Amino acid sequence: MTFDLLLKGGHFIDPANNIDTPRDLAIRDGKVAAVDTDIPATSAAKVIDMTGLIVTPGFVDIHTHMFASSGFRDAWAGDRSVLPDGFSFRSGVTTMVDTGSAGWRMFEDFRYNVLDRFETRMFAFLNIVGMGMVSNDLEQNQADMQVDRAVAMGREHEDLIVGMKTAHYVGPEWTTVDRMLEAGRALGKPSMVDFGLFPKQRPYYELVTQRMSAGDITTHMYLGDVPWIGADGKVLKYLYEARERGIIFDVGHGGGSFYWRNAVPAIEQGFYPDSISTDLHTWCMNDEMQDMTNVMSKFLAIGMPLEEIVRESTTNPAREIGHPELGHLSIGAVADVTALSILEGDFGYLDVRQGRVQGKQRLRCELTLLEGQLMWDFNGRTGTDWRELDEFYGVRNPEGLIMPPGEGGASK
Ligand SMILES: [Zn+2]
Repeated sequence: MTFDLLLKGGHFIDPANNIDTPRDLAIRDGKVAAVDTDIPATSAAKVIDMTGLIVTPGFVDIHTHMFASSGFRDAWAGDRSVLPDGFSFRSGVTTMVDTGSAGWRMFEDFRYNVLDRFETRMFAFLNIVGMGMVSNDLEQNQADMQVDRAVAMGREHEDLIVGMKTAHYVGPEWTTVDRMLEAGRALGKPSMVDFGLFPKQRPYYELVTQRMSAGDITTHMYLGDVPWIGADGKVLKYLYEARERGIIFDVGHGGGSFYWRNAVPAIEQGFYPDSISTDLHTWCMNDEMQDMTNVMSKFLAIGMPLEEIVRESTTNPAREIGHPELGHLSIGAVADVTALSILEGDFGYLDVRQGRVQGKQRLRCELTLLEGQLMWDFNGRTGTDWRELDEFYGVRNPEGLIMPPGEGGASK
């Protein structure tokens, strides 16, 4: 056998390699070993029939909240976070990035309790606030926004920390943004801004056209408080200007940051997100956001091409966090793979204020592989008809399989 596993007969979308066509995918030692039109089934120890499925790189969700073990009540870094494995693979996600749940005071706890555990591939943005996302009050504490401490923590944990983050600051000054950017630049890594509110002293346009630099990320791009559309119905010029400067626009759907009135005209006019992310936390996952495939389905419903949706859920976010080795299925790349079906029917999609879009398609995650290992199999495709299995499959100790007297003949 040449290969460990062969995914045969699927439609292959790998935007990093400009492939959007039927292809077989063979895996050996957890890596992509071959991508070709007709790889013989006899060449692999195991073959999965992918007929009717879309095969893509595993999704990279760069906005999640995974510090569920911090112990803080009602905190994003606490009761509103989720541990990753229960939510990742079932929605096609193989890499999750926590966005600033922990700051420099809490990061070691976060690493010990979450990032060093679980099978999902994980990274984190470090909050410029030492206490991270524990309470709205503490997120305003300028004394806790210490550049030197953040940079030291970022260097010590450079294997996991992919950038800096500031969130939920409501004051009129740019202090928190400036300190985060200073730390991010010192680390040579991107900074992500997550604000729900923009006081008139520090408007959004100034953030993206003047403060942030190329590679920095504005998440919650479709926020209600971000000006998107002018009186002429066109996407505003400053957004193109920001994109021209290299500012990254990330979806970060969440519980309060996704409005059709911004997203629909932008998509119609071809202003696509750079990356699609969920802002996964306990509120939004049980509300309009749901999960990664639901957010991706929303973009399908408003007319974005599937290849673009996959690009913005795989190779783009991987590059944004400085991990270009992820998010594609080049030969030799790690075999993080997702397979989707496209359901046809009548489906409804809500924004965060119950605005609704009717769609004809929905993406469903069928299979997820992490480093070539099967992590999710929605329809049992990798199984065998039970009647074809051994007579006593599942019996661990045949000698203990004693039949009651008079029943079932001889005991086995
Ligand atoms: Zn968030």
